Amino acid sequence: MSTALDARFFDGRSSRPYAARLHVQGDLLTIAPAPGEAFEALTVPLAQVRWPERTRHGGRIAQLPQGASVQALDVAAWDEWAAQQGRADSWVVRAQQNWRGVAIAFVLLLAATAAMYQWGLPWVARGVTAAVPLRVDALIGEEVLVSVDQSLLQPSALPPAEQERIRRAFARMVQTAHPEDAPAWKLEFRRGRDKQLGPNALALPGGTIILTDELVRLMPGNDEAVLGVLGHEFGHVRLRHAMRQLVQVSAVGFAVSVAFGDYGTLIGSAPVLLATLGYSRDAEREADAESVRLMRAVGISPRTMIGFFEAIERWRGEQKRAGLDDDTIGLAFSSHPATAERIAFFREAAENSN
Ligand SMILES: [Zn+2]
Repeated sequence: MSTALDARFFDGRSSRPYAARLHVQGDLLTIAPAPGEAFEALTVPLAQVRWPERTRHGGRIAQLPQGASVQALDVAAWDEWAAQQGRADSWVVRAQQNWRGVAIAFVLLLAATAAMYQWGLPWVARGVTAAVPLRVDALIGEEVLVSVDQSLLQPSALPPAEQERIRRAFARMVQTAHPEDAPAWKLEFRRGRDKQLGPNALALPGGTIILTDELVRLMPGNDEAVLGVLGHEFGHVRLRHAMRQLVQVSAVGFAVSVAFGDYGTLIGSAPVLLATLGYSRDAEREADAESVRLMRAVGISPRTMIGFFEAIERWRGEQKRAGLDDDTIGLAFSSHPATAERIAFFREAAENSN
């Protein structure tokens, strides 16, 4: 069934308007001459009609094939008629009529796209980590320490006096750089088992830093390099990098834990996860910056780290020649490549502090 609508018709050949009546029947639009008008009735499949989008102030013109068109005489009547024909506005049209809707949609789209592509998960992980209580870090750290003690480490063979000397120097460095806001930390001395781990240091969630005898012995008599490495690990502790990595790889799990305050499953799976994780380049950069801050606080030149990187690269080369894999645990210092970028960073820092 069809109601007729009075409209103006242009045949596409002349600019003369004809008085016409529009009918829709099935899939066809018929443009018939109004009484007293003389042109040949035209029938067009609806699919070939380009219907106008509604504009707030504009008229209504529907484009027909071969340059012909029909124009509304009365916009309100046209809209009502079009709605009756099942051409109700889509939500897009309705939203476009509301400029605020457009602006909000655009801003949301931009923000979501930027967040996903620029920061994505790290950005979310930072927020979720902030919601995880610090005691969870400590619990995970204890689990990981038990786990690595069973698999990779044995008790240190360093004389207690030597351990104490390093611990004191590190405590003084942290205290000088962060008199007010230092996070809790604990220094644990260990020796690699079966040549595993080698000269290394690693920061566990909760603030425990493991330092291997091999690292202390790598540059005999050079406590400053050891302190630089500890400063780097302290950076990971201060910024909760290990925790952030854990959150990132099990983001959904953590979101659920934060929501329900139950961390049991996550704490149980953390040691395995942490063994395979590495830090992002951003995390390494932040930790190196912290290392420089701590060294400067007690007058150690960041240049010390360049010598250390050279020594560790030599050690890595020897490992390779001996057919040994040094990639034992992702969070360990030796797994963080001494890239040219990192070496340049310490060199520049050394030049700026002189
Ligand atoms: Zn690191």
